[in-house]
Amino acid sequence: MTASLVIQTSFLGDMVLTTPLLAYLADAGPVDVVSTPAGAALLANHPAVRRTIVYDKRGRDRGALGVMRMASHLREARYDSAYLAQGSMRSGALALAAGIRERVGFASSAGRWFYTTRVPPIENMHHAARLLALGTRAPERTVDPDTLRPRLYPGAPERSAVDALLATARPGAPIIALAPGSVWATKRWPYFADLARAFANEAQIAIVGAEADRALAAEITATAPDAIDATGRLSLLASAELIRRAALLVTNDSAPQHLASAMNTPTVAVFGPTVPEFGFGPLASRSAVAGHDALACRPCDRHGPQRCPLGHWRCMREITPDAVASLARQLLSFGTS
Ligand code: SF4
Repeated sequence: MTASLVIQTSFLGDMVLTTPLLAYLADAGPVDVVSTPAGAALLANHPAVRRTIVYDKRGRDRGALGVMRMASHLREARYDSAYLAQGSMRSGALALAAGIRERVGFASSAGRWFYTTRVPPIENMHHAARLLALGTRAPERTVDPDTLRPRLYPGAPERSAVDALLATARPGAPIIALAPGSVWATKRWPYFADLARAFANEAQIAIVGAEADRALAAEITATAPDAIDATGRLSLLASAELIRRAALLVTNDSAPQHLASAMNTPTVAVFGPTVPEFGFGPLASRSAVAGHDALACRPCDRHGPQRCPLGHWRCMREITPDAVASLARQLLSFGTS
């Protein structure tokens, strides 16, 4: 039995994409995860995880004192190996200070000087496969889709929250979930309201997102008044449960896309300034990507800038509602009318 510690304190999507690595490591022994408070909530009920250790690196655990306190806590568990799914100097230093003899991370990470095993990351590979390679130590371009698919496990509280939310849903209508938000403004496709109007008669529209996405949700409910607005009303894991119940998710290149991958919900992902080749495309078994392939300026940024550096934002403005609706209809089972 090998006791493993995975350190993942990046964005929520990264935590979702780390779950195939967690499942792989769990075959060899117990797996604990160091996570941000938000990431920890995503891992509730996960069968591959023995314990989630919350590391509030921007709050009560910030600074060198926080690292040392966390390191002393981790030291007690006597882990055999640490996997640096988040590659900062701080995470590497934490694993070293925790006395973990084997420390595995990417050769390109800032914290690589703290690692005992450096795995070469491969460009144009899905990030879930890159993270899995920390466990296998052998990056493989072709990974069985079932092994690569992330997984989350909503429980009874999440099911109850979604039951309550959907109490007013149209009976028998398939749910189309829309996720209009993104932290990066240029990644927000501007036509979700038009898409909602196109499907309003044949589906129950549900809007997924955080509190910060409420204004975007209001634009949608203005054109599709029957839409159920879940923004700011569900936990992340409950949002995953809502997406699980949907016939389709239409999303930007943002965290809900990864929730859909974890619940294997058919997905249309709209990519503007970024491209799936960065490693963050949908992994649901039925999925499609909308992107402006003819645009020379694209991609222009690994995350997506807050403003289009050229001012025209054609990468998103020129992806029409009809084009996305057509992809959506191809993935839905209720036809092409
Ligand atoms: S530069 Fe091109 S890819 Fe970048 S935001 Fe503007 S239109 Fe999109």
